[in-house]
Amino acid sequence: MRDPFSLIVVHGDGAHVLRVNLPRWIAYATLGLIAAVASATIGLSGGYVVLLRESGRRAALRQRVDDQRVLDSLETRIAAVRSEIATWRTLHDKMWKASGLAAGPDRTAIAAGGGPLAASAPVPAGEPLAEGELDLLATNVADEGLRLRELEHTIGRMGKVMSALPLTWPVHGQIDSEYGMRRSPWNRAKREHHDGLDIGSPPGTPIKSPAPGTVVAASAHGGYGKNVVLDHGNGVKSRYAHLKKIDVKTGQRVAKGDVLGLVGSTGRSTGPHLHYEVLVEDKPVNPHDFLPQP
Ligand SMILES: [Zn+2]
Repeated sequence: MRDPFSLIVVHGDGAHVLRVNLPRWIAYATLGLIAAVASATIGLSGGYVVLLRESGRRAALRQRVDDQRVLDSLETRIAAVRSEIATWRTLHDKMWKASGLAAGPDRTAIAAGGGPLAASAPVPAGEPLAEGELDLLATNVADEGLRLRELEHTIGRMGKVMSALPLTWPVHGQIDSEYGMRRSPWNRAKREHHDGLDIGSPPGTPIKSPAPGTVVAASAHGGYGKNVVLDHGNGVKSRYAHLKKIDVKTGQRVAKGDVLGLVGSTGRSTGPHLHYEVLVEDKPVNPHDFLPQP
C-alpha cells in the first residue's frame, strides 16, 4: 500500500495539532465529490440565469403587445374624434348658411403641420396618427368651440326677432285665393295682384294674433272693410280684412293669441273669409313665407 495522505488540523494559536492519516482512495474520492458538486452548482446557476433572461424577454414582449393594443385603441378613438369634428364643421356651415348671415370666426384653422383641416375630408378610422395630430385636433376643437359660441349668440339674437314675427295662422281654413297675380273676382277679364291670402272661415270665427304687436289701424274703410293692422316691429306688419267685428283699438298692445276680431265679409268681399296680409317695410309679401304648412 502506498503512503496514505495526512490531514493536519492546527488550532488557531498553533497550540494543538491533530494529524489524521487517510488512505489515498478516500482523499481522491473526497476531491472527486467536491469537483462534482461544484460543477453541478455552476451548471444549475447558469441554467437559472438563462431562465431569468428568458422570462425577462417574455415580460418585455408582453408589455410591447399591451402597448401596441393601447396605441391601436387610441388611434381608433382619435380617428373617431377627427371625423366627428369634420361633421361639426359641415353642420356649422349649414347653420350659418341657413341663418343668412356671414359665417362666424376664422373658418380655416391652420393645422400644426401647416395646412388647413378640410371640412369635408373625413379621415378613415384606423389611419395612422400623423405627427402633431393631437395638437391639430386641440386647435380644431378650440376653433369649433369659438364658432359654436358665436352661433349661439347669433341664434339668441335671432330668437328675439323670430318670436316677434307672425309665424302662425290667424284662423284655419282652406285657401280660397293665393297671394300673387290672379283674375279679378269682380271682372274675370282683368288681372290684378292679390296682396294677401284669402282664408275661408265661417263668419264669427275669432281671429287670433299670430305674434305680439301694436294695433296701428283698426277701422272700416274702402275695399278692406273692417280691418286691423298690427305692427310687430323690425319692419314687419300684418293686416286682417273684411271683419264682421273689430275687438281692438288703435294703439293697443296685443299678445300672441289675443282675439283681434271676428271673420266677416265687409268691404269688397265675395263671401265670409279672412284676407290676411303680411307687409315688410310696408310692402306686401307672400304670407306663406312666414307660415307653417296648413
Ligand atoms: Zn283677399
